[in-house]
Amino acid sequence: MRVLIIGNGGREHALAWKLAQSPLLTRLFIAPGNPGTAQHGENVPIAVDDIAGLVGFAASNAIDLVIPGPELPLALGIADALTDSGIACFGPSQAAAQLEASKQFTKELCDEAAIPTAAWASFTDAAAARAYLADHPAPIVIKADGLAGGKGVVVAASDAEAEAAIAAMLEDGVHGASGSSIVIEECMTGSEMSLFALCDGETALFCGTAMDHKRAFDNDTGPNTGGMGAIAPHPAATDALIETVMAGIIRPTLATMAARGTPFRGFLFAGLMLTATGPRLIEFNARFGDPECEALMPLMASDLLPLLTAGAHGTLDAAMTPVWRDAAAATVIMAAKGYPGAYAKGSAIDLGEAVALPDTVVFHAGTALGADGLTSAGGRVLAVTATGGGVDEAVGRAYRAVDAIAFPDGFCRRDIGVGAVTG
Ligand code: ATP
Repeated sequence: MRVLIIGNGGREHALAWKLAQSPLLTRLFIAPGNPGTAQHGENVPIAVDDIAGLVGFAASNAIDLVIPGPELPLALGIADALTDSGIACFGPSQAAAQLEASKQFTKELCDEAAIPTAAWASFTDAAAARAYLADHPAPIVIKADGLAGGKGVVVAASDAEAEAAIAAMLEDGVHGASGSSIVIEECMTGSEMSLFALCDGETALFCGTAMDHKRAFDNDTGPNTGGMGAIAPHPAATDALIETVMAGIIRPTLATMAARGTPFRGFLFAGLMLTATGPRLIEFNARFGDPECEALMPLMASDLLPLLTAGAHGTLDAAMTPVWRDAAAATVIMAAKGYPGAYAKGSAIDLGEAVALPDTVVFHAGTALGADGLTSAGGRVLAVTATGGGVDEAVGRAYRAVDAIAFPDGFCRRDIGVGAVTG
C-alpha cells in the first residue's frame, strides 16, 4: 500500500515509525514531514493547509490511504476533498471535525445523546454572559467556541477572572472570530485522562489511554502548552472504566453523528475528567493526541495499517480491536527555551547515544537537518519515548535518553509520570 501522512510533528513521526513496520506498506510519503519521518519514508514539501496541493499529490502518486495528523487540514476539509477525488482518507469530514472545531457543537451533541459532561450555556452577548455568572459563581470555565490553539480556555478561580475572560473574548476579540461566541461551563474536579478510539463512521474500537502533562513546568506550573509529556496507559484505566467511556461517551457520539448524516471517521480523542460521579467529557478532538500518540504507538502490538485502512473504508469490526503490549510508555518533550512563548530556532542538537538506547525512540517534532547537522525548528523539538514493564521503568529510560541528548537551548519537565494519580 502507498500511504501519505499529513503533518510534521512528533505525532506524525510516531505514525510513520509504526506504519513503516507494516508488511502491507510499499511506499510511505509524509507532507511536509521532518528529519525523523524521513527515516521511514519520503518527505514531500507540501504544507498541511495546502489542500489542493495535497489532493493533487495523492492523486498523481496513486496513494491508497491518506492519514491527516493535525486538526488544521481536517477543519479545512481535506477528507471531503480526498473523498471527492476517490482517495481513501482516515480522518473526519469538515462537518464531522466540528466535534473539535466548535465547543458549542459538541455540547449540543452531548445534550442530544445524554453524554455526561459539564453543565453549560453559550453566549455572544457580554451582558447576558455576565448575568449568567451572577447565578453561577466561580470557579467556572470560560471557553472560546472555536479553535484557539489550546489558549481559548480560562478556568476562572474568581468572578473577577471570569468577567475579565468574558470581556477579553466577547468585547476585546482576543481570539478573533473563534471567540465571538463563548461557552460557559461548570468547573469539574478530578484527574484528567485522554482516551482514543478508532472510528469508521459506525464502529468505534478502543485505541488506548494516556495521561498528558499540559503545563510548561514541573509540578503543573507555568502556562499551558501543546503537551510536555505523556505516560500510557493512564494509571486509572481499568477495563471497567474504559467500557464505561466507550458505552457512555464514544459509541453514543458515533451513533448520533451517523444519524445526523455526518458520520465520524478517524481517531476520536476524548479528553475526560474522572469525577467522583464517573468519567465526564471535557472535550473531543478529531485527531490523535500529541504527545499521546508518541507514547501509545510503541505499545501497540497490532499492525496499524489494516486498522486505518478499514477505518477509512467503513469496514472495522470488533474482532480488529488493537492488541497492546503488556508494558508502559513515557514520552518526555524537549522544547526550545521560551516555549510556549517566543523561542529561537536553529539551535544545535546532538542526539548522541540516545538513539541507540534499548526500548527507546527519539521522535522528532520541530527539528531541521542541514549542513550544520540537526537543529531546532519549532517550539516542541523532540518527543523522547521509552517503554518498560511499568511507568517507573519507562520514565527512567526516557530520562536516561534525555540526559544523553545535548540540546543546550532546550528544556524539559523533570516530573513526567511522577506521582501519577489514579483518580
Ligand atoms: P487543547 O486544545 O489544549 O486540548 P482546548 O483549548 O480545546 O484545549 P479544553 O481541552 O476544552 O480546551 O480545556 C483545556 C483544559 O482546561 C482541560 O484540559 C482542563 O484542564 C481544563 N478544563 C476545561 N473544561 C473544564 C471544566 N469544565 N472543568 C474543569 N476544567 C476544565
